[in-house]
Amino acid sequence: MFKKALPGYCAFCLSPRANIEGWCDACYAGLEHNRGACPRCQEPLAALKAPEHDRLCGHCLADPPAFTATRAAFLYEGAIKALVRDFKFHASPRAGTLLVELMLKHPPLEVGDALLAVPMHPARARERGFNQAQWLAAELARRLDVPLLKAKCVKRLPTQRTLSRRQRAANLKGAFELPESLPAHITVIDDVITTGATGHELARQALRGGATRVDLWAPARTPLGRS
Ligand SMILES: [Zn+2]
Ligand SMILES: [Zn+2]
Repeated sequence: MFKKALPGYCAFCLSPRANIEGWCDACYAGLEHNRGACPRCQEPLAALKAPEHDRLCGHCLADPPAFTATRAAFLYEGAIKALVRDFKFHASPRAGTLLVELMLKHPPLEVGDALLAVPMHPARARERGFNQAQWLAAELARRLDVPLLKAKCVKRLPTQRTLSRRQRAANLKGAFELPESLPAHITVIDDVITTGATGHELARQALRGGATRVDLWAPARTPLGRS
């Protein structure tokens, strides 16, 4: 659907009342905003339990991840889910550009010294013909004028979606190769954050490799109970 939207028209409802970023006010207001989430991993916190903005989730309190903060302003639901899927499975640049605009509307407090895309195994990238995190990271690096680092995925990973937190973490051990020299503060870019296990492993390796802080930034986070 997002391929058909023309510049000047809302990408979500095709009305001609779109702003420069590509959407109308009504559709923007109707998006699933990830408000009141854990600042460290952006896990959505149950509304009743999250009166304060800086409250950490149970996972971050019990077993703190290697990354410091996460930004994922929307939930992976409704129009955002359709947009991410259109981008991922049809390599739609229009959908990708919209995701970048939505990310730039809700940037992290600090972008850091460089961006790093979650790498995809070469066999998987060949099958799909497209690495969506790399595309987002390259576009954000260009727009923000920050360097883009390149990591490699050297282990074929099974679909993470059906695995438990513990299984994900075990699978990811040794999956990535990072550049030899790293800047101090790195922001890892992904399309959807599920449990943060991938970000944790990249952050763990980056901290070992000389970085002093790693953050995550994605357009969306899976809703509560579905990670
Ligand atoms: Zn609209
Ligand atoms: Zn958390």
